[in-house]
Amino acid sequence: MAEQCIFCDVSAGKLDSQLLYQDEEVVAFPDIRPIAPTHVLVVPKRHYATLADAAAAGDDRLLGRLLSVAATLAHQKLGEDAGFRVVINNGAAAGQTVHHLHIHLLSGRHFAWPPG
Ligand code: AMP
Ligand code: ZN
Repeated sequence: MAEQCIFCDVSAGKLDSQLLYQDEEVVAFPDIRPIAPTHVLVVPKRHYATLADAAAAGDDRLLGRLLSVAATLAHQKLGEDAGFRVVINNGAAAGQTVHHLHIHLLSGRHFAWPPG
């Protein structure tokens, strides 16, 4: 666990977040500042600062698991035909503000392409 990491605290149950999903490796909870009607964060309990760090560590199984949990949550929450988008911001230059790997699961409005 990294010191002073908000998502380490959430995944350890130290904050009063409403968990939508949890297992031994992954938690999911609503984004505190949603940018879409559905905006869920899917987060590994293990601390990796970035996607690139998790890949460099060879944690492919966990990376696959995060995507699988995101898709399963989308299915359960939105129905099997719903459109949704998953986003990972890797590094501050790409908009990452919390430096603990997380997937944004977004749905419920139109999403422009290319993204902003
Ligand atoms: P990113 O910019 O990709 O690093 O995304 C970080 C996201 O975490 C932002 O959408 C924030 O609104 C969200 N966030 C920050 N702190 C919390 C928190 N305590 N609970 C839920 N979401 C949070
Ligand atoms: Zn962390």
